[in-house]
Formats: sequence, structure tokens, C-alpha cells
Amino acid sequence: MTGRRWQRAVVIGGGICGLVAARVLADHFEEVVLVERDALPDGAGPRKGVPQARHVHGLLARGGGHLEELFPGLRDELLAAGAPLFDHGEMASTTVWAGRVPRVKVGVLAHAFSRDLLESSLRRRVAALPQVVIRDATPVEGLHWNAAATRVEGVVVHSETTGAEATEVLPADLVIDASGRFSPLPDWLEEAGYPRPRTTVVDAGLAYSTQVLEAPPQSYLGLQQMNSAPDNPRGTFVARVEGERWVVTLFGAGGDHPPKDADGWREFAGSLGNSDLDALLSSATSASGVHHFNRTENRRIEYARMSRWPDRLIALGDSACAFNPVFGQGMTVAVLEAAALGRVLTKHHGELAGVARLFQRRVAGIVRLPWLMSTSEDLVWHHYRQGRTRLPLPLRMSNWYKQRLVSLVVHDPHVFRTFLRVYHMLTPPTAMAAPRILAKALFRSAGPERQPAKNVRRV
Ligand SMILES: Cc1cc2nc3c(=O)[nH]c(=O)nc-3n(C[C@H](O)[C@H](O)[C@H](O)COP(=O)(O)OP(=O)(O)OC[C@H]3O[C@@H](n4cnc5c(N)ncnc54)[C@H](O)[C@@H]3O)c2cc1C
Repeated sequence: MTGRRWQRAVVIGGGICGLVAARVLADHFEEVVLVERDALPDGAGPRKGVPQARHVHGLLARGGGHLEELFPGLRDELLAAGAPLFDHGEMASTTVWAGRVPRVKVGVLAHAFSRDLLESSLRRRVAALPQVVIRDATPVEGLHWNAAATRVEGVVVHSETTGAEATEVLPADLVIDASGRFSPLPDWLEEAGYPRPRTTVVDAGLAYSTQVLEAPPQSYLGLQQMNSAPDNPRGTFVARVEGERWVVTLFGAGGDHPPKDADGWREFAGSLGNSDLDALLSSATSASGVHHFNRTENRRIEYARMSRWPDRLIALGDSACAFNPVFGQGMTVAVLEAAALGRVLTKHHGELAGVARLFQRRVAGIVRLPWLMSTSEDLVWHHYRQGRTRLPLPLRMSNWYKQRLVSLVVHDPHVFRTFLRVYHMLTPPTAMAAPRILAKALFRSAGPERQPAKNVRRV
């Protein structure tokens, strides 16, 4: 707690990022208004504005640690709701193109829950903060500017209660855009006379299809089968979540998408040739339809590079940078950004001018490594999808090294442990090029030859 210095902050969007941002802002503002377009359910339940919530959502250990600091007791609350916490190396079944990885304890904890449960737990805790007001069923329609359009002074919301005009201005000292992957912020900036921000898109052409199943206990609590470019486009993520339900997400990159119908979904699952998955499916009954999602491209908006940036406006979470979900980074990056926002506000005693621009650069720094991790594999898909058959040399080299590491993971617990620590953002990716691992990757036999998967369409 720092003593509150400013009057009101408005957060656009009540997803994971908006909720965590509201929690942090409550330490610094007299009032925090979180404005959400959807009518919010009382407990954990689906809603239109976050269609991705139907699919497996793994929280990386780094994000889990920060969330627990911001919301003490959250981990126990999720456990009590039936969300299992387990050692990722020991209790998850992991398959890569080179084979099944032997299960070993790695000291990295994975917590499996539905995203609906996480969001509702965070929402309940945020709503209980005396500074926070949540206004749901209230779409934000635009920003409210000063006359010169150099500073954002609030938001314009669609309001059911204001009669004929049906809009209302919510004044604010600071506005946070946490409205997600499809944020209209680039349009709003352009309308106010700003240049359109440059957007970088790397698209692996990947889609998810997910079912919730009911099944008896298995030998594992989580399961992942990773795809690899360009020969093995298909993969799966499975998590046993609260209520003894299983969320089973099938995915395919390079346009090789899992079907939307139940029969096609089963057939796709069978094509993975994963005996652990087959065991689950053979004893399971479906508890949902098949949900499909294909807007999974990596999308980074270069707000920090704009020649002009309005004061008092910050874009966070997917609104600033959305990742291909297979790397499970989105929620963790959102939490890291919100935590960093708290530190920056603590540092800036009493003066908000200039903080937004400074912080937007901080956001760019936070997303830099996750972006590199996510796009280095996806650039391979991206190139093939654009009809290029020969990859640029740096990409060929990084892909070759990555494949050597993947083949080592199957035989070498040290490499597997390091890989999982990097995956969970507990260790920087450079650890995968530390001398001991580099030597193994360069000089040790790589094991089996790389084989394209059977029954899949090649890109
Ligand atoms: C298929 C899929 C699977 C994923 N799996 C993982 C995973 O395993 N691990 C992980 O960490 N991340 C995962 N992610 C990413 C993760 O969902 C997000 O990164 C994370 O939830 C943070 O998102 P956000 O809060 O910025 O945006 P969102 O969660 O999209 O929330 C945005 C909110 O803003 C609201 N909104 C939008 N426009 C307006 C408006 N005009 N006015 C008011 N409200 C508005 C929306 O209704 C929504 O509630 C996945 C994403 C996808 C697509």
C-alpha cells in the first residue's frame, strides 16, 4: 500500500488483465472504475467477450507467483475449488516429435483450472476492494480527449440509463485499455489525429477445437503434445480442472485445423497417436459441444514507437500484444505488466504527466522476450504459409537448434528441466544456450530422425 494520490482511474475490459490492473490501481487511486461490455455472471461461467475461455488456459509458474503476491490466498482458493496443483514434469504427460518425455520431478508447479474459475475468483476479490466499482454491460465507445487531443481525460460509455443519447462520459486521471486482442484503440487514436500505430503480425495459421469431458482419474493431471514446424502441425493440451472435468484442446497449425464437429474432432484426436490421450477419450463422456477458435496470430502493436502518444493512456495485455496461445504466455505477461505499472506509479510521486509514454515503453520491454519465444517457431509456419519454401538463414539456424533441443528433451532430464523453467518464464531463454546444453545440442547424437506425422495435411 502506498497512499492514494490520484482521483480516478478507468480500466476498459474486465478480463484477466483488466482485473489485475484494477487491483494494482486500487493502491494508487481513490476510485477505480472497471468498465466491461459483457453482463458478468455471478460466479464462474462463460461469456461472449472472452471466447478463448472455452479452451485450455495454463498459467505459467511465473504468472502464478505474481498473482499470489497480488491476491494472497488465491492459490489455496483455487485448490479448494478442485483445481489441481502439480509438478509439471512429474504429473504431466509430455510428447514431442522425438517421442514421449520420461516423467521426472522438475520443481516447477503447474496449476490447472478453467479460465472461468480464475476470472471469477479474481473478480470477486477485486469487487471487494472498497476503491473499485465494476460497471458491467457497459461498452466503451471511445476516449474522451482534452481540446488539443494531447491528453485522454476519460472514456465515453454506452449507458442504458442516460436516455436518448445513451452515452456518458466517465472522467478519469488515467485510462487503461485492457480490452483484449480486438481492441479498437488503433482506430480511436487515428480518429483523434494520431498516426496509425505499426502492427506486426506473425500468423502460424493455428486453430483450437476444444471439448470439456467427464472422465475417471488418469495417470496424469495434464497432457501436452507439441507440434513442430513444418512437418508436425498437430498437437493437444489437456488439463484436469475443477469438478473432475477435463478440458481437451486439439490444435493444428499451418491451416491444418481441428474440426468443429464431434466425429471429426475424435478422428483428429486419434491421428495424434497418443496412447495417454486415447486412454482418456476411451473412458470419457462429453460435457460440452466442440468450441473452435482460429484468431490465434501473434499481434504486437508498436505503441511505444509512435512519434506521439497521448498523456494518461496506457494499453496493456492482449490490447498491446497478443500471443499465439500454445506458449501459454498471455495471462502471465498481463500480470507482469500490471505489477510493473504498480511499481512505476509508486515511483512517480504525485505527477502523472509523462508516465503513460514511459510506461508504454516498459510494456514493450516486457513483451520482448515472450514475443521472441512465441514467434521464432511461428515464423517458420508464417513463411511456408506465404508460399516460401526456403527459410531465411537465421530462421533455418534457430529452427535447427530448436529441433536438436527437442530431441534432447526426450533423453536428458537436465535439458527437460531447463526447458520447462524457460517455458514457465522462470529462467530466460538464453538458458537453453548455456554451455552445458549447447555442447549437448551440438555434439551429442540427436536420437531419432525427424519424421512427418502420419495422417496430416502438409503445408
Ligand atoms: C484460444 C486461446 C487460448 C489461450 N490460452 C492461454 C493459456 O493457456 N495461458 C495464457 O496465459 N494465456 C492464454 N491465452 C491468452 C489469454 O486469454 C489472454 O492473454 C489473457 O486472458 C489476457 O487477456 P486480456 O485481459 O488482455 O484480454 P481479454 O481476456 O480478451 O479480455 C478483454 C475484455 O475486454 C472486454 N471488452 C472488449 N471491448 C470492450 C469495450 N469496448 N468496452 C468494454 N469492455 C470491452 C471484453 O468483453 C473482455 O472481457 C489464450 C488465448 C486464446 C485466444
